Amino acid sequence: MKLLSWISATLVLALTSCDRGADPSTDGTFRVVATTSMIADVARQIAGPDAEVTALMGEGVDPHLYQPLRGDIAQLQAADLILYNGVLLEGKMTGTIERFAKGGTRTLAVAEMPGLIDEAEGKHDPHVWMDVKLWAQAAGRICDALCDADPENAAAYRQRHEAYAAELAELDDRVRQAIATIPEDRRVLVTAHDAFGYFSRAYGIEVRGIQGISTESEAGLKDLEALIQVLVERRIPAVFVESSIPRKSVEALVEGARAKGHEVKIGGVLFSDSMGRAGSYEGTYIGMIDHNVTSLTQALGGSVSPGGLFGKLPTTHDTAP
Ligand SMILES: [Zn+2]
Repeated sequence: MKLLSWISATLVLALTSCDRGADPSTDGTFRVVATTSMIADVARQIAGPDAEVTALMGEGVDPHLYQPLRGDIAQLQAADLILYNGVLLEGKMTGTIERFAKGGTRTLAVAEMPGLIDEAEGKHDPHVWMDVKLWAQAAGRICDALCDADPENAAAYRQRHEAYAAELAELDDRVRQAIATIPEDRRVLVTAHDAFGYFSRAYGIEVRGIQGISTESEAGLKDLEALIQVLVERRIPAVFVESSIPRKSVEALVEGARAKGHEVKIGGVLFSDSMGRAGSYEGTYIGMIDHNVTSLTQALGGSVSPGGLFGKLPTTHDTAP
């Protein structure tokens, strides 16, 4: 019932958007609205000063559970282009965006492209930004969408995209080099939920999440017990917290392993479904990946400079939520 009344409320809001009397998009500014901060960062790199990019979900926000706020609807109404992840990442928001698409707003589901990882029941894993090469393809799609929607600035968009694509290629190389320094039997990443499937496939590190692909369902005790068994048997030295998810399930793992005589430490806080503080290096896509790779490489016994892959990470970084 609650859901139904919410749907009808947003429908009314969407319908009133057809009244274009006070349309803020007529002031000449090209407006891009992105759902996640990862998408917004890429869009900003390409847009430069030629378009205004807004992110709806900020630091520490879980996109699986995110409900659009009234202010978000106003942002979407004013958008010339809506960029969202798709692949059902925005579980509670996809319908709203699809209604805007039907109403004639340009939209792009940036992650809906070939090469996705299959999940059960015909679903795909939405966490594509964890594979830098795949995310670079998404960046290409974002560039195309910007150029189509705002052809006047297309040349500038393409130029900035080319420079950013080169940065992403360099990032991908350095991630590979860092992971390669972790002893092979320790290349196991245990985190709160299954956000790292693409990371695993791209960089050859085994991943285990306490919760499934979405955070919408709770982890069962049985799953927890099975994971503790893996930690103990393989003497895995560290597990990781995610910035957008409560840390209690990961702490339960540490305690469970300790009860069985195996000391596991929390190897750090990883950014899974949201980035770091806006304005910081970790608040960019490249900084987010750098932080994750540097933290896990250090905790699992590999070697990487304390300043990270580009010497830009603060050397005493703790991002505990
Ligand atoms: Zn997720």
